[in-house]
Amino acid sequence: MKNNHENMEDLKKSITSMMKSQSHWGEDVPILWTKLESVFKKLQIDNKVFVFSDLLRSLVNSVDSIIESKEELNNALTFFHERGVILFHSETGNIILDVQWFVDAFKCIILDGIHIDMKYRRFEELNEYGLLYNELLDKLWQSDNFSQHKGSLVNHMKQLHMLAELSEELWYVPCMNKQSYSRNILTNCNVSSRFCYLFEFLPFVIYHRLVVACINNLEMKPWIRESKKCIFHTVTILSCKDSYHRLLVGICDNKEITHRQFPYSIEIQINVTKPRIIDTEFTLRLQRRILEILSDLTQACTSCEGSFTVGYRCRLKPFGKKPEGHIFTQEEMERNKSELECSKCDTVHLVNLRSILKFWEVIFVAKYLINIIKYKMII
Ligand SMILES: [Zn+2]
Repeated sequence: MKNNHENMEDLKKSITSMMKSQSHWGEDVPILWTKLESVFKKLQIDNKVFVFSDLLRSLVNSVDSIIESKEELNNALTFFHERGVILFHSETGNIILDVQWFVDAFKCIILDGIHIDMKYRRFEELNEYGLLYNELLDKLWQSDNFSQHKGSLVNHMKQLHMLAELSEELWYVPCMNKQSYSRNILTNCNVSSRFCYLFEFLPFVIYHRLVVACINNLEMKPWIRESKKCIFHTVTILSCKDSYHRLLVGICDNKEITHRQFPYSIEIQINVTKPRIIDTEFTLRLQRRILEILSDLTQACTSCEGSFTVGYRCRLKPFGKKPEGHIFTQEEMERNKSELECSKCDTVHLVNLRSILKFWEVIFVAKYLINIIKYKMII
C-alpha cells in the first residue's frame, strides 16, 4: 500500500489534471488574458484568497483594464481554473490564487504527524481513523494564514474530493485511515453480488475520492455500528440516504494468476439487515451514479489513462478480508446464457448468472426474459 507521501504526489498531479479534464476551452482565448496570469502572481503575494467582487473591482480599476465586466472575469477565472492555475468555485465566487499554498494546506493535514506535537487533542483520531476535528484543524493550520481562510480552503478541498464533510465540526480524510476491516460486521446481513471496476494499476487515490464523493455528493454517511464508524483502510461502509441500504466500497489487490490482466479492483456491494431484501432498482440506479463519478475521477487521474473495465465476483458472499471468489469481466459473463462454469476457484462450481447480475444489469434481466420466452417457444 502506498504511504502518505506517495499519495500526496498523486494528489498534486491529479488536482491540476482534474481541472484540466473539465476544460471546454479551445486554444482561442482573448490575448489580454495572457497578462492575467502575471497579475494573479502579483496579487497572490498579499492575498491568497479573493472573493469575486473584490477581484473584479481591483482588475477593473487597474491601469491596463484587462477585465471589463463581470461575465468576462467569470469566463477568465473558469479558464484559469480549468488550466490548474488558480482555484475558482463559481457558486461561492471564492478564488484561491496560489495553488501551491492550497496544496501546502492539505499537506499540513496529511503529513504533519511527523512534526506535530502529539499532545494535541484529537490527533489520534486523525492519524488512526482519518477523522479530522475542527479544533485539530485550527491547530494544524495556525501558521501561514491557513486558519484565517479555513472556510475557503475546506470548500475547495470538498469540491476536489479531498475530504468529506461529516458535520460542521468534523471531516473525513480517507488517506489517513489505518483501521482494518473485519467481515463479522456483515453477519446477519443480506448482500448483493460484488460489482468490480477493474484497473491495471492500484487505484488508491481514486478509491479515496470515490468514498469522499459518495459522502459529499450522494448524501451517504459512514455506517455506525457498535458506536463506531465503519470506515477502514481498504473498506468503507456507508448508509445510503434511504436509511435502508448500505453501500460497501472496497479496494482489492488481486494477486492470483487468474487476474493478471486486471490485478486491482475497486468493488461495490450493497447490504441490508436480514430479513430485509435488497431493492435491485435501487442498486442499479446507484451503480450508474457511481459509474459516472468513477469515470470523472479516472479521467482526471494522470496515471489512470481514463480507463477501467467492469466485472463481477463469482460468489455471492459478504465482503471478506480476503477476496472471495474470482472476477469475471462483463464480456466473459455475456458470452454465456444462464450459467457459467468457474474453474478459477479451488473447487470448480457453476455460477448462476442471474443471481449475480440481477443487482446491476437491467439489460441482462431483459435478455434473460427473452431467453425464457425463446426456450418456451422451442418447447
Ligand atoms: Zn469461482
